[in-house]
Amino acid sequence: MDLVIRNASEVVTCDGPLEARAEETLGRLPNSVIGVKNGKIAFLGPESSLPASNATIIDARGGFVGPGFVDCHTHVVFAGDRSDEFEQRCQGKTYLEIAAAGGGIARTVSATRKATEDELVALAKPRLGRLLAQGVTTAEVKSGYGLDVRSELAMLQAIRRLSAEQPIELVATFLGLHAVPVEFKQHRTEWIRICIDELLPLIVKSGLATFCDAFVEQSAFTHDEARMLGERARELGIPLRLHVDQLTANGGAQLASELGAVTADHLEQITPDGIAALKRSGTIAVLAPTSTLFAKARPFAPGRALRDAGVPVALCTNCNPGSSNSESVSLAMGLACVENGLTPAEAYLGFTRVGALALRRPELGRITVGGPADLVVFACDSYRALPYHLAMNEVSVTLKAGRVATHTT
Ligand SMILES: [Zn+2]
Repeated sequence: MDLVIRNASEVVTCDGPLEARAEETLGRLPNSVIGVKNGKIAFLGPESSLPASNATIIDARGGFVGPGFVDCHTHVVFAGDRSDEFEQRCQGKTYLEIAAAGGGIARTVSATRKATEDELVALAKPRLGRLLAQGVTTAEVKSGYGLDVRSELAMLQAIRRLSAEQPIELVATFLGLHAVPVEFKQHRTEWIRICIDELLPLIVKSGLATFCDAFVEQSAFTHDEARMLGERARELGIPLRLHVDQLTANGGAQLASELGAVTADHLEQITPDGIAALKRSGTIAVLAPTSTLFAKARPFAPGRALRDAGVPVALCTNCNPGSSNSESVSLAMGLACVENGLTPAEAYLGFTRVGALALRRPELGRITVGGPADLVVFACDSYRALPYHLAMNEVSVTLKAGRVATHTT
């Protein structure tokens, strides 16, 4: 062994049966130690069975150990600051009024286009550092603030570099259909054509993104436009995700189901028909409760109804400068319990086992012998304490591929 974690209250493997009650899926193992070798988990069991070695010891001091968190939906690569817009919203201005005055996504796009790739990397690193401090070892990051060919590619290149230059492994998503760029307002079909016929094939060929995505909303892109992206994505073999049913109920979940999307994200306005459609297609629901809170949008997505219908539910921070300026996994988990109706076990699985499935990375978000040693040692002794201790960070040590990535206490 290279490294052994001992004195844990329990190891929460998240490796129980997925279809069982969440509390069973957690697969909790009391009185267990974890041995790590070559970045993988080499031993999991009682200390009395642990082979003797000169391994480095991490003393969990009675805290519990779980898999590294997977934040399956973020927008952490961007430039610019919108704190003045937040102030205006608190003073009573609406999002639409702010957007009409040149604010909103368009403002982030303008700042992101002016930034160099080096600047985008430098700006994103502290955000990723805060996610790491929250126990995140894998994160998805979307493009979509470039919205021209050069700037979208610069964002994706920045994501690729960031994945190599800091401990969190990043999964890139091409979100060219995030908003209609200002210069294409009068001929939006041309921007859609550029995304589908030029950018998408280039991105697939160069391996710059693992997923593609579109924002389906009255103020963004239509079902037919998302269908065009979905059909091209299918031809090119790149899996699809969709932002749907966030601000208005418009059958977005049914569309995600029809197009075989891996995930349907947001879902604040999903209907019972939409829930049934996700269940049929096996599409994973990704909820972003901090953005519902931050955008002062209501209601929160019906996490309880989704879980009760048998739809897998993942959670994310959706960290972005407009609607969720937060890297707090713990706040998202707490809100998921208080506002989306999940139990603490379901919320915990949303950032582990199910979050990993949302990225089609089933080896992540669970602790298994032979699996990657992406691990978090917590200061508290139970997963329940995470949403219960609202918005506070209980992470003691994070390990990525068996290496200590942060040590906050
Ligand atoms: Zn998003």
